Amino acid sequence: MPQQETLGEQTSRKKTSRRGPRPKHIPRRMCAVCRESDAKRELTRIVRTPEGTVEIDLTGKRNGRGAYLCDRRTCWERAITTPILGRALNVELSDDIRNALREFAAGLSDTPTEAAQAVNSEEPTP
Ligand SMILES: [Zn+2]
Repeated sequence: MPQQETLGEQTSRKKTSRRGPRPKHIPRRMCAVCRESDAKRELTRIVRTPEGTVEIDLTGKRNGRGAYLCDRRTCWERAITTPILGRALNVELSDDIRNALREFAAGLSDTPTEAAQAVNSEEPTP
């Protein structure tokens, strides 16, 4: 059947789309602190908006320079206490964003017992 031949020609032509010899560059998300890019880990995007503010970007689609943090509490704490994140975003982190990061980190279910202890110790003793 001539029909089949044309069909085969078309598909084979589609498949021979050129690919360079070097491997395709896939932009991988990588935690700015631990530098791990494990796909299994949940990474949260932190974005420096064009307005110059730093925000936690839960949609992952906001404009601006982004950096990722994995779901490890230790990475968030290092992001808050060290210049790593600020350097990744090329901006100085304000107290506001540090507080926001701290709040977000507290919500991570990494070490719930630790969070409970922190709450207890913060309670004012009469
Ligand atoms: Zn990390």
